[in-house]
Amino acid sequence: MHQLFLRSTRALVVALLLAFSLTASAQDFRVTLLGTGDPIPRLDRFGPATLVEVAGQELLFDVGRGASQRLVQMDIALSAIDAVFITHFHHDHLVGLPDLWMTGWIPPPFGRRSVPFEVWGPTGMESLLNNLEDAFALNTSIRIPDELLPPEGIEIVAHEFDSDGVVYEKDGVKVTAFAVDHGALIKPAYGYRIDYDGRAVVISGDTRFDRNLIKAAKGADLIIHEVALASEELLNSSIQFQRIVAHHTTPEEAGIVFAEVNPKLAVYTHLVMLSSRHIPEAPLHTLITRTRTNYDGPLVIGEDLMSFIVDDTVSVSRAAR
Ligand SMILES: [Zn+2]
Ligand SMILES: [Zn+2]
Repeated sequence: MHQLFLRSTRALVVALLLAFSLTASAQDFRVTLLGTGDPIPRLDRFGPATLVEVAGQELLFDVGRGASQRLVQMDIALSAIDAVFITHFHHDHLVGLPDLWMTGWIPPPFGRRSVPFEVWGPTGMESLLNNLEDAFALNTSIRIPDELLPPEGIEIVAHEFDSDGVVYEKDGVKVTAFAVDHGALIKPAYGYRIDYDGRAVVISGDTRFDRNLIKAAKGADLIIHEVALASEELLNSSIQFQRIVAHHTTPEEAGIVFAEVNPKLAVYTHLVMLSSRHIPEAPLHTLITRTRTNYDGPLVIGEDLMSFIVDDTVSVSRAAR
């Protein structure tokens, strides 16, 4: 009887462990949109930022306005971010960086980071980070003696690159940067591909329709892509709107990208929804209908705090806010 009890207890433990490891493996590659907006300060869509949680690593791609607030909403300590990757130097992708860097260093619940803050980005990243350290030198020199904060936690390590290739590799996780075309004067501009355990996620960064992105995204399970939407009426009303749209991807063009990449799921982020005083924003569903002219596969319009688990299939969940 005693032995039977032991055996069944052991079987239960094994079953629980198996269930746990299955859950862990199914959840070990998760992407969350922290911000799906553009430079416009809106309350429903924060600035561009995408969190990739993979193999126990917390990787953040772009740090737009409000990224730290979204991390707190997810109950993730700001100090838990292991690596930050920047796509390009438009400020909407960067303004949350000083906040994350400095707030992640002050005491819990934010983190009290005790290791350097590591940032990857194209040429220009190192200079920006050096200037950031200079700009906030007094904050650093005041807080160290006053709050006894660890000096190494406010150090920044910059990893700069100037061409396509693998920029990060750790415990089976590989991040590859690839150049994208955000317009002749907006250089450098990159997208990123994250590979792990035979699965892959691609983040477009800001780009026009670009064959280099299609090439880099081949075989990806999930593609997170920017988009810009303007009605014909708005485009005809001012050349300014034509100039903005020319720096981005239209839904029809994104449809061509998605059809060629053929991901398990395509997701829109960085929604540039143009409007003027007299011409309102086009309704959101127009993004879908216009994409459908070229692509009929799985497609979702991203929302802040929407998550995707990348497994044999890609599942979508919306966090309660
Ligand atoms: Zn942008
Ligand atoms: Zn941009």
